[in-house]
Amino acid sequence: MKLDNFPQVRLSNKISCSIIGGGMAGLVAGNVLQQYGFDVTVLDKGRGIGGRMATRRISHADHGDGIFDYGVQYITAQSEEFKKWLDEWIEIGLVEKWDCASRSAADLESQKYRGVQSIRSIAKHLASNLNVHTGKRIVAISWREASWKIFADDGASYNSNLLILTPPLPQTIQLLKDSKIPISEISLERLRRITYRMCLTVLAIASGPLRIQQSGSCHVNGDQLEWIACNRLKGISPDCYAVTLQANAKFSEQHYAPAKRESAAQALIHAAKQYLGNSSILEYQVHVWRYSTPINYFDGTFFSPQPCSSDSAAVGPLYIAGDAFSTGYEKISSLENAFLSGFEVAMDICQKQKVS
Ligand SMILES: Cc1cc2nc3c(=O)[nH]c(=O)nc-3n(C[C@H](O)[C@H](O)[C@H](O)COP(=O)(O)OP(=O)(O)OC[C@H]3O[C@@H](n4cnc5c(N)ncnc54)[C@H](O)[C@@H]3O)c2cc1C
Repeated sequence: MKLDNFPQVRLSNKISCSIIGGGMAGLVAGNVLQQYGFDVTVLDKGRGIGGRMATRRISHADHGDGIFDYGVQYITAQSEEFKKWLDEWIEIGLVEKWDCASRSAADLESQKYRGVQSIRSIAKHLASNLNVHTGKRIVAISWREASWKIFADDGASYNSNLLILTPPLPQTIQLLKDSKIPISEISLERLRRITYRMCLTVLAIASGPLRIQQSGSCHVNGDQLEWIACNRLKGISPDCYAVTLQANAKFSEQHYAPAKRESAAQALIHAAKQYLGNSSILEYQVHVWRYSTPINYFDGTFFSPQPCSSDSAAVGPLYIAGDAFSTGYEKISSLENAFLSGFEVAMDICQKQKVS
């Protein structure tokens, strides 16, 4: 995305920025910063990029490859900035309109979009010009000699002048705690107040077509099942009836424990019976999203936590961003919120670092 409506920033020298988390927030921040001349490195623990913009392939001997969007189901856009990026993605054939069901009353009137290939293809596009390292679970960070040192669980380490953290907030807090970063108790307490819904998801291969509206999706609103989507009708799984079943938050909380997952998956498949028509489920996998969407929001588009007063030099430039930060829009979708948080934190850094 070419950023043409922002005052040009001239950096006094090359400033490096590490971004932990390659979901929407981290990738957008990375793109903006790189465009303004920062030396950006994105680190993610996942095998692939995208975070909750997640797509998985499951192969079946007789039915070919099932392709599942199993995190974000659809995109909506309210803000002018996100609309601009979305328009560009539409123009290059990355995204298209999808007249699917609405997951919430807030989305009823909104135009919905999908990734043409998959939702993860948007993340891959955003990552294509960035220095991205996947499979790097960051286990410790420290600020030493005017530089952030970042340590991954495989022994790799990275240095940078600035650091942005974009994991869901409980994971960010854990990393700060494990690293003994001296953040003030007030800052930590503000972060701790943010909670997320859980979402137990079943990725199932069906033997044939579903009895579901043409768009391939349905907001079920049952006591167990909340959402069902046929990825073949959606257009991303050309050979195989790949079905995404998502449970509601209450059922997910009650059944996420490994010992309960199998029976929970069976219950969700049973709850989807009327949509399966004459088809049966041939094979499935279960995924638990511990943090799917925020329940409440942090007041502010991003956050620079305060160090403990006694130790103010012990923390370098540190920013926290992601979908749980309030961007000032009412009823905005989570993915757009993540986008705006990543965009705003990068713009703020650009403004602070510019020469004149
Ligand atoms: C089941 C489900 C359905 C959803 N449906 C929709 C929808 O239809 N529409 C919508 O708008 N939103 C939806 N959302 C919400 C949307 O996916 C999120 O709001 C958005 O993707 C969050 O982006 P993010 O960058 O803030 O976080 P994430 O995408 O979670 O990115 C954070 C990244 O940090 C990485 N990470 C975490 N800890 C570490 C570590 N220690 N070291 C390295 N990397 C780490 C993770 O691997 C992850 O990639 C859904 C989410 C789920 C789970």
